[in-house]
Amino acid sequence: MQAAILSIGDELALGERLNTNSQWLAEALAARSIITVEHRTVADDRQLIAEAITQMAQRINVLIITGGLGPTADDLTRHALADVMTPGEELVLDETERARLDDWFAKRDRRMPEANLIQAMRPHTMHCLSNPHGTAPGLAGRLDDTQIFALPGPPREMHPMFQDHVLPELEQRDGHDVLRAITVHEYGLGESDAAERIATLMERGRQPQVGTTASASVVTARIRAFGAVDSIELLLRADAAAVERAWQPFAFGRGDVTLAQALLGELISRGRTIATAESCTGGWVGKNFVDLPGSSAAYLGGWVTYSNEMKRDCLGVPESWLESYGAVSAEVARAMAQGALERAASDLAVSISGIAGPDGGTPEKPVGLVYIGIAQRTSDAAPTARAHRFEFHGDRTAIRDRAGKAAMQLARFALLGIEGERLLWETDLEVPA
Ligand code: ATP
Repeated sequence: MQAAILSIGDELALGERLNTNSQWLAEALAARSIITVEHRTVADDRQLIAEAITQMAQRINVLIITGGLGPTADDLTRHALADVMTPGEELVLDETERARLDDWFAKRDRRMPEANLIQAMRPHTMHCLSNPHGTAPGLAGRLDDTQIFALPGPPREMHPMFQDHVLPELEQRDGHDVLRAITVHEYGLGESDAAERIATLMERGRQPQVGTTASASVVTARIRAFGAVDSIELLLRADAAAVERAWQPFAFGRGDVTLAQALLGELISRGRTIATAESCTGGWVGKNFVDLPGSSAAYLGGWVTYSNEMKRDCLGVPESWLESYGAVSAEVARAMAQGALERAASDLAVSISGIAGPDGGTPEKPVGLVYIGIAQRTSDAAPTARAHRFEFHGDRTAIRDRAGKAAMQLARFALLGIEGERLLWETDLEVPA
């Protein structure tokens, strides 16, 4: 199936606002094997919009339009659609959407301005897509063999409408056959190693079709199948499980799950807590936890100890170690993790100390050298701590991002009792306490 995306708005055409909808939609469609072959941006001009719809709809199966559905005089998508879909005919009032609009304003104790009524109007051959996040409903219909969807411009309204209405309608397009995909993510195996482990699943022409992509060092297997819903669900789940087995123990989750979410989920389900002690990542790991609602159930807090004095005063790293081993060393990373574990009284603590660059590297301690400490308390023994040595590649941002992810993956391994696995960029085996 091929798609085209039409973005409407003066602010986009004039370059005042970045067209993020277009990128988001193309990616979301591609994830379901619907390939976008054209992107167009048009100003708030009824004739230009109508021309774009007519031309684009001739070439593809799915046209997605965003923007211009609001109540003001410059919102012209609805009228342009009517010019193309039902030329010469009036828009009709959709009673369901009218009631919904009345309700929307009543709930907010406001009288509905007359201008808003236009949002309940539609070309009579189209139907409305309800919008629980705003006043503008979307519109959907067919022009010959092309499915057309018009969605509101604000991304926070557009995204759920695409997920809740557009995808289900697209899936019904070819009778009962649907296109479904499952993604599996891993961190710590290089992409070529990851691909090699699932080479037989990735053979071309196979159903489901399996491919890998890497983004921000996370490798994702995308497993796609097309067919009757019951049979492909089983095939997809079997392949997802096979990928997870092949990527053990680096695979951390499916779908929208991030590494931070996976780790937090494992901690919460085991009733365990974690604390952080970060130097070169400056709170990156802590932020990733706190970004997640409900993180307080497992994340107790952390320290950003950038200077040696802070490492000593806040975490109890011995001054003599800082002097003799240096802040970027296995000993200091381990002491930071131990200090955080004791002070936070957590079950687990991670620490990160490294040289993120671009300056500050030496032949012995190059830019990208990072030590990650893991301290863990188990009920039957004294706390243990270990350090892992990494040499990450990339610029300052990439090094910090990779170090943060490595710390979370190592914490996950510690929690699951996984030992002896070496992550990508890890240069030495663990340095035991
Ligand atoms: P509303 O009812 O809010 O007016 P609408 O469907 O008429 O919705 P627009 O008026 O075209 O949408 O856009 C509303 C806002 O949504 C814009 O100011 C912009 O912030 C955002 N927006 C619109 N189109 C895009 C886009 N393609 N990418 C990113 N943001 C967009």
